[in-house]
Amino acid sequence: MSPTFDLAVFSGQHALHAVDAAGALRWRVRHACWGSPCSSFHDSYEEYAGIDGHRHPDWGSCRISADGSTVWAHVRTPLPDDVEPKPDEEWLVLDTLDGRVLGRASTDNAAAGSHHVPHPDPGQMGLSVGEGQDGVPLRWGRWDVPDSPSTASRMTTAASSTSALAGRSSSPSPTSRANWRSTAFPTVL
Ligand SMILES: [Zn+2]
Repeated sequence: MSPTFDLAVFSGQHALHAVDAAGALRWRVRHACWGSPCSSFHDSYEEYAGIDGHRHPDWGSCRISADGSTVWAHVRTPLPDDVEPKPDEEWLVLDTLDGRVLGRASTDNAAAGSHHVPHPDPGQMGLSVGEGQDGVPLRWGRWDVPDSPSTASRMTTAASSTSALAGRSSSPSPTSRANWRSTAFPTVL
C-alpha cells in the first residue's frame, strides 16, 4: 500500500498488479510462474487452475517504498521481455507510476516464500526469504536516486551470507542507469 493510500500493489503467482483507490488496474508486470515445476508466463489464473504444481506454489512478495516512489518486488524470473531467459529469482525495483523496471538483481535463493522488511528511509528495503530447512536469509537493498540527471542511480544489495549478489541495470539510458553492487553482510538470525 502506498503511503497516501492511493495505490496497492499485489504480489501474485504469475504477475504483480497495481490497483488504484477506485479498484482500477494501473499496471501489471508479468514474471515466470511460481508454480513448480512451471516457470511459464501466464495471462490469467484460469490458465493454471487445477493443474498440478499450482495448488501450493512458492511465493514472492512486494512492498512500496516509504515515499511511494518505488516498488520492491521479489519475483521468479525471467521476465517476458528478457533477451536471454534464464530461470532465477530476482529482486526488482520498479517505478510506482507505471511499473517500469528500474533495477534488478538475482537474490541467489530458492524461496518457499518471502516478506519485505520496510525501512523509513525511502531508499532502503529489506527482504526476508524463507527457504524451508535451508534457513531464512536476509537481503538488504539500497536505491540511491541521483541529485542531478547526469548522475546515475545506484543500487546496492547486501546479503546475509558471503555469497555476493550480482546486479545489473535494466535501463539503457545513461542518465537513469542503475548500478548494483554487493557486499558481505553479517548474518542476522
Ligand atoms: Zn504456471
